[in-house]
Amino acid sequence: MTSAEEEILTEDVQRDIALDDTMKARLLQETDAIIARYFEMEDPRGSPRGRGTAYRRRREGCPALWHLGRLDRAEDGTLTIVDYKTGGLPNRNYDSQTFANAELYAALCEAQLGERPTKIRLMYVAHGQSIERPVSEVVVNARAQAAAGAWSRITRYYNDGDFPATPSTNACRFCAFKDLCRSNGVAVPDAKS
Ligand code: SF4
Repeated sequence: MTSAEEEILTEDVQRDIALDDTMKARLLQETDAIIARYFEMEDPRGSPRGRGTAYRRRREGCPALWHLGRLDRAEDGTLTIVDYKTGGLPNRNYDSQTFANAELYAALCEAQLGERPTKIRLMYVAHGQSIERPVSEVVVNARAQAAAGAWSRITRYYNDGDFPATPSTNACRFCAFKDLCRSNGVAVPDAKS
């Protein structure tokens, strides 16, 4: 067993996620393949790379604690947000949601560092492919306002003592509270579907 396995897959973690021997063997095999593919994508010993960092910041009144996968500074001084993705590639006509989280990171970076990253790179490490998009002031401001709107609604619900259910395919698919959900009459997808 390697030190990384010992550090991450502790007995507590394995028990919490109900990881049996078969699942663990598959997890390690997939992880090996992803790491091998990542090293085909880039050599981290090359040009200086940014590091993952946890940040805590307010933007537009919205408090946020987030973990940034990587922030690279290029030789020309510009910043690039790098986000690692272990899932499937988006289809060629990827929609605005593909970059939504990273664009919010860009807004938070601007609030934290006083400097707006100029580019986002999503590294699909299971597939050996990256996609990139420039960061614009318009997009960053829109993401910041969306986060502020969500925080405003949370604050209002908290003060009202009443949180309405807001079903969505992505959220409901992995929700652990379906049994308690009061989204009456709304189809909630099964986690296996
Ligand atoms: S199942 Fe209900 S509580 Fe869970 S994410 Fe969906 S709407 Fe929210």
